[in-house]
Amino acid sequence: MTDGPLTRQPIWFPYAQMRTARVPYRVVRAHGTRLVLDDGRELIDGVASWWCAIHGYAHPQIDAAAREQLGQMAHVMLGGLTHTPAERLAARLVELTPTGLDHVFFGDSGSVGVEIALKMALQYWFNQGHRDKHRFLALEKAYHGDTTGCMSVGDPAEGMHRRFAGLVPRQVFAPAPRGGFDDDPAAVDTSIDALRACIVTHHHELAAVIMEPILQAAGGFNLMSPRYLAAARELCHDHDVLLILDEVATGFGRTGRLFAAEHADITPDILVLGKALTAGYLGHSATLATGQVYDAFLSDDLGDAFMHGPTFMGNPLACAIALAGIDVFQRDDYLGKIARIEAILQEELGSLRHPAIKDVRILAATGAIHVHDPAVLKGARAFAAERGAWLRSFDNYLYTMPAYIIADDDLRHLCTIMRDWFAR
Ligand SMILES: *Cc1c(COP(=O)(O)O)cnc(C)c1O
Repeated sequence: MTDGPLTRQPIWFPYAQMRTARVPYRVVRAHGTRLVLDDGRELIDGVASWWCAIHGYAHPQIDAAAREQLGQMAHVMLGGLTHTPAERLAARLVELTPTGLDHVFFGDSGSVGVEIALKMALQYWFNQGHRDKHRFLALEKAYHGDTTGCMSVGDPAEGMHRRFAGLVPRQVFAPAPRGGFDDDPAAVDTSIDALRACIVTHHHELAAVIMEPILQAAGGFNLMSPRYLAAARELCHDHDVLLILDEVATGFGRTGRLFAAEHADITPDILVLGKALTAGYLGHSATLATGQVYDAFLSDDLGDAFMHGPTFMGNPLACAIALAGIDVFQRDDYLGKIARIEAILQEELGSLRHPAIKDVRILAATGAIHVHDPAVLKGARAFAAERGAWLRSFDNYLYTMPAYIIADDDLRHLCTIMRDWFAR
């Protein structure tokens, strides 16, 4: 094997074998749902930059909020100082998220937000003298981020981190929920039984159950029934285990509700937000906790406090951008736009059949085509780019998770390209 054109240059790209990686497309500008390449081509973005750019790029109101905040201050530490952008964002998140999540701990990326949630859950029990509750129950097909704690709760076999099995803490795994969002009752009941069995066996050593509600995204677009989520909430409650919902991917509308927890009308003990939180402009996360979790850290002993503090937590620029993004989300009826995206995805992809296709999964602003053999998708990116679109397939999935502002015609064009890939 000879070295490819990227092998000896300085950027080390993500999830890439640098020896054989294809030369990436060079973007010089982005606006709306368009990526402008250096050769002048414009690609319709079907991926929203790993799903975070829900407003598209260079949104006038969000750009303006960022500029205004830059005129005040880009950053100050949150240790011993406070500022209006962080205070306003925390209050806004408490107001928007399910009732009972009253406290917000900021972090600088989704992975860090999940690490914060895990550590918070451990210390919640340690502070109350339960040193035995030190493990987590996660789901197969889960993806919670790339840092070490996050890796430990990601899918143990199929995920990106199987090479590290044995090096990261060993957690307990329940089977990935089956039965889909629409709820095939027998399959969902079986999945709930399996989750119950795991919790019953391990609850004495579990600090928390962690899951991506409704949509297991990067682990393979597995959809779950709201009934499964409701059962998880009840099982955790009944067995003295915290429930952490990782809504880094599902938060801010991706599953058709502002937060996926709303499908089951539940409040987790801890909720993690990231990705779309900051409108695709900057990395940031928010880990929200209930009063019950927060109160377990209150005492006269500094040792009981939550000893955590990412350098950039509560970054004013990130907070100002997040606030502007939430304003636009509400003002422009994004939930209505998302329902429209779902209808178009259903119309364009819902009845797609092909021997190479195992199934097609559509929920709200996510459409994924699941193929039997990943080799079938080799060349799909270039095929899409030649037809004016950016689609980044992975594993067995050709998918789109577009910005919510995508024009109907652009979305239909993306779907046509996905269909044509199989029709060619
Ligand atoms: C992307 C993602 C993360 C990690 O977020 P980063 O900002 O990439 O660290 C965690 N959990 C879920 C569900 C995600 O989709």
